[in-house]
Amino acid sequence: MAGNLGAPVAAGVYNVYTGELAGTVTPTAAPVGLEPPRVCAPCGRRMVVQGRPDGWWARCSRHGQVGSADLGARR
Ligand SMILES: [Zn+2]
Repeated sequence: MAGNLGAPVAAGVYNVYTGELAGTVTPTAAPVGLEPPRVCAPCGRRMVVQGRPDGWWARCSRHGQVGSADLGARR
């Protein structure tokens, strides 16, 4: 598993926006960096999402927190 990307978005099992199985549609780093993910990719749980002036973070109770800065989206 990619250590540099947050686990909640790196696994790609579930679509991080819709919560459906990702299937052939794997979210890439670019759209993930622009819009907060709402669903944890490895487990499908709905994450706590917080917007910030410089980006966002999202937290899964099992897989931890990921932020836009972690995905290289910081401008
Ligand atoms: Zn999770």
